[in-house]
Amino acid sequence: MNILILGSGGRESAFAWKISQSPKCSQLFIAPGNAGTGQYGTNVNLKVTDFEGIKAFCLTNSINLVLVGPEEPLVKGIHDFFLADEQIKHIPVVGPQQEAAQLEGSKDFSKAFMQRHNIPTAASKTFNRDTLQEGFDYLATAGLPIVLKADGLAAGKGVLICLTLEEARQELAEMLTEAKFGDASSKVVIEQFLQGIELSVFVMTDGNSYKILPEAKDYKRIGEGDTGLNTGGMGSVSPVPFADAEFMQKVEERVIIPTVEGLKAEGIPYKGFIFIGLMNCYGEPFVIEYNCRMGDPETESVMPRISSDFIDLLEGVAEGNLVEKQLEISEKVAATVVCVSGGYPGEYLKNKAISGIENVRDSHVFHAGTSFSGEDVINTGGRVLAITSLQDNMFDALQQATADASRIYYDGVYFRKDIGFDLL
Ligand code: ATP
Repeated sequence: MNILILGSGGRESAFAWKISQSPKCSQLFIAPGNAGTGQYGTNVNLKVTDFEGIKAFCLTNSINLVLVGPEEPLVKGIHDFFLADEQIKHIPVVGPQQEAAQLEGSKDFSKAFMQRHNIPTAASKTFNRDTLQEGFDYLATAGLPIVLKADGLAAGKGVLICLTLEEARQELAEMLTEAKFGDASSKVVIEQFLQGIELSVFVMTDGNSYKILPEAKDYKRIGEGDTGLNTGGMGSVSPVPFADAEFMQKVEERVIIPTVEGLKAEGIPYKGFIFIGLMNCYGEPFVIEYNCRMGDPETESVMPRISSDFIDLLEGVAEGNLVEKQLEISEKVAATVVCVSGGYPGEYLKNKAISGIENVRDSHVFHAGTSFSGEDVINTGGRVLAITSLQDNMFDALQQATADASRIYYDGVYFRKDIGFDLL
């Protein structure tokens, strides 16, 4: 099979690494890829939103399947673009169509979907500019802290946890009347605050049946002890010790089955990954958010734990026979530590030569924000490399990934040394 992966991050590197191991893989292309993805296939200089360019590439290179990494092309309708074009409609796209991608693209849509299907989630109500006063009234009766969420995509910045009523009123007004997050905050979801521990559950579905991939926990804050600014993700661990069999059974029965069945009942086709951001509240699962793609840096910890053929599973999604496919999951523990650029998540140092990758002893190095400058590999993004170690137990995995991250050097290199240690 000839496969095209869209994206350029650590997630796409982990996909490419896993797919390249399959005997079913003839040619693998990554668009645009990074300085590391060339180890597994051929990088293609195309933007993930250049649909016409992607079409032309697929036709010239006899692509048999397109795997979409990030949300942007999905929310912009790449799957629909393929289905609507006679020349490429036969090429399966793994990743949902635009309507279903709203589960990620609109928090109002996803909350309403959960309410229709009795999926456990925090109580909420949505307001717009015209209903600002009703929003203030709702805030007055809601408890504190209270969560305000911009409806649309805001790069993880559109969620505010307010500790006082005054702060909540001011933020709501700024979001609705001053477009604090642009168009994304033309609607705001006001949501009850949930106390608990977060984890990410990943489901692969062909629209009928589903497979539950290994779950993971990610670490969003820049500082150790989960302090400081939010980032795209500083590390991840899989499996998650507090997601035991009893908890995961509740997740399957109360969240996964109603989600897949709900989509089906509403006639919304879905072929791809569903990323369910969950809060474990004293043993009970509540959905915080849906994403329509895999997580990054969770994928880097999830892929090494899948021992079965990943292309076989992708084919199951594409052909609608996922139920017949085998998913084997390793008992081992994967830990990922992300090396970021100095200054990230603010303005950061870039174009610095990276050294030490060859000194990494027992981890995979998944490239993210890297490029070539002549012979040198340089950092060009905020998140630079994901260092993933797969070991027999959690301590060894955490220790090895952290030790291997310390073998990487570039001017400004930073990584958290405490990823996963709270789980021990
Ligand atoms: P992401 O960056 O993960 O895409 P997002 O902008 O889509 O984030 P959410 O995932 O809905 O927004 O919320 C971001 C974070 O805010 C969550 O990971 C969680 O830590 C916190 N959060 C969101 N909703 C709640 C809630 N109801 N109670 C407590 N914390 C919450």
